Amino acid sequence: MEWLSKDFGLCYKPPKRGVFDVLIVGSGYGGAVAASRMARARRKKNGADEAGPEPLYSEIAVLERGREFVPGEFPNDIANLPGQVRLQRWDVEGMTGNPNGLFDIHYGFGLATLVGNALGGTSQINANVAMRADPKIFTTSRWPAALRDMPDPLDVYYERVARALDARPVSDRREPPPKLRALARLARELGANTNEPCDDFGAIPARDGEPLFVRPPLAVTPAAAENADSAGRNPQVPVATVRLPEPRGAETRNNVGVLQSECLNCGDCVTGCNHAAKNTLTMNYLPDAYRQGATIYTGATVVGVFPARHRRRPRDTAKWEVVVLRSGQSLPYGLDDAEMRKWLNGRENGARRSIPLRTERVILAAGTLGSTEILLRSRQLYGLPVSSRLGHAFSANGDDLWFGFNQDSPVHAIGWGAYKRAEKYSEGGAKEERGEKHEEKPKPGPTITALIDMRPMFPPCDERAIVVEDGIIPGALRDLLHEILTTGALLHRLGDCRSASAKDDPAAIHDRELEHTQVYLSMGHDTASGRIRLQNHRAYIDWPEFKNDPVHASHERVRRVAAKLGGVVLQNPSEEETLVWQHPDNDPGSAPEALLAQARAVGRRLIESAPLPADAS
Ligand SMILES: Cc1cc2nc3c(=O)[nH]c(=O)nc-3n(C[C@H](O)[C@H](O)[C@H](O)COP(=O)(O)OP(=O)(O)OC[C@H]3O[C@@H](n4cnc5c(N)ncnc54)[C@H](O)[C@@H]3O)c2cc1C
Repeated sequence: MEWLSKDFGLCYKPPKRGVFDVLIVGSGYGGAVAASRMARARRKKNGADEAGPEPLYSEIAVLERGREFVPGEFPNDIANLPGQVRLQRWDVEGMTGNPNGLFDIHYGFGLATLVGNALGGTSQINANVAMRADPKIFTTSRWPAALRDMPDPLDVYYERVARALDARPVSDRREPPPKLRALARLARELGANTNEPCDDFGAIPARDGEPLFVRPPLAVTPAAAENADSAGRNPQVPVATVRLPEPRGAETRNNVGVLQSECLNCGDCVTGCNHAAKNTLTMNYLPDAYRQGATIYTGATVVGVFPARHRRRPRDTAKWEVVVLRSGQSLPYGLDDAEMRKWLNGRENGARRSIPLRTERVILAAGTLGSTEILLRSRQLYGLPVSSRLGHAFSANGDDLWFGFNQDSPVHAIGWGAYKRAEKYSEGGAKEERGEKHEEKPKPGPTITALIDMRPMFPPCDERAIVVEDGIIPGALRDLLHEILTTGALLHRLGDCRSASAKDDPAAIHDRELEHTQVYLSMGHDTASGRIRLQNHRAYIDWPEFKNDPVHASHERVRRVAAKLGGVVLQNPSEEETLVWQHPDNDPGSAPEALLAQARAVGRRLIESAPLPADAS
């Protein structure tokens, strides 16, 4: 087996001339796409427009804080999931959990966020949906004028990305999973026409005043029969330069020659795909970057970046210094800036604690939280000139997670977890063990299969313009959520407690109730009034008023309609003082603005001379 990455602490080797051409921080969508593009860039032939065979950049490295996971290693049980959590609270000193864990949870002041900490970033734990942004967004004043005036500025890139991620909707020809049909019921209650066909990008012609019901493109490997339909879009490359463990089931080589299995519809996308079916970045862009010569380091935490101060050699072309810690070490608490610099420059076990890397270009792609943290810390520790708006206008993407517990019709939104087949862990499992006949449960399907889109009904960025998607309870969290939801529902059903029959006991855990439970994921436009601040040299989110953001009233209106589907509508169970979030985001306008502001602050040409933010959010 060949790994894509090397451990930074054990294997770091300086580049040949002491200076990197490009250093990319983070390996999520921003970092992986940048790595592949930079590694593929070719020097122009003398005087000609045409690119020659010579690489433009020969020393490219990706610095990723998390570790590399391969299919089969992801947590699938409540016994192995907590060991994959790294947790930081704004009000508690010190990180708890596993610093190399897959799930990076930050409890801020007012809300909490969840992102991925691994090679491939949050692609390892997201829900696969690859949709285009509403083009109307780019016409709003949140965006710089140069972008506003451009017709469809992202069109060409959407097409490239959709090809690379091989994103397509859950097929119309296959029997839709029950949770998709259950979501269609809610869509009809909200006034959508659910019979409209959509194109490859999930687009349906919008009708005034009506929500759309859409099957969005998903970045998962579909069943072989569907693959054949789109053979033209998915050329099979017969050479695998990156070998991953042999996946089970039907295998195909993807666009970059990596072997992938077809999706089993097990529903566990958000705890990491153990079946090599999810088109994460370790399946496409990162193997491509690796094959084109980029070096990928894992276990490398970037502390800060600043303009290179002195030339070490006559031909030293470095413009930036990037300070890197091995991921096993973490920054101490309670030090002032001078003490922190001294600690970083100090020695441990005979070696320097932090390693300074010299480079001509830096691309910061450590995610909304990670990149902002690096820039804020760089300003504080090393005086990096950055925009005074940095950290402002943080948006939670209007996210909400809620449940329709025990709806009238079956939903089967439960991942398989450690079990191979759904029926093993339910009443069917007991029957199977007794050798009795039982009905096979429907497969849950990928985490998200469809969405109700209310954006065509409202002006861009309106808080009512939300989307509502079907979700899934990952198998590893099944038992925990079953108990939490049953207890939550009990508070709504206290009047039913007089029943003498155990079958109807509202406090008892029933498989049927969970099988009839829909998971709803809603997204929209919040006011982006959060702020990322630095405390103890670490970033935290400060948004005490988040719970009162107007977008929550829009989610509440949909919840009231969902009550018509029967059962009990329950809000996010983690909503005690904070919410666990899926899409930490900068305000749509702030990323390019921050980029331009930084370019101005540093005062030279953009890519050449400013750390370039390339976060996907
Ligand atoms: C549960 C869940 C479901 C989601 N579902 C969807 C979906 O269906 N569709 C969709 O479009 N979006 C979805 N998202 C959001 C989407 O995955 C993110 O917007 C996207 O991954 C952001 O990409 P990025 O490159 O900006 O950051 P990330 O993918 O988060 O990558 C940042 C990387 O930088 C690394 N890093 C951070 N700090 C440092 C440092 N100091 N040094 C070195 N490395 C560092 C991190 O470990 C990480 O690997 C979901 C998110 C979650 C959590």
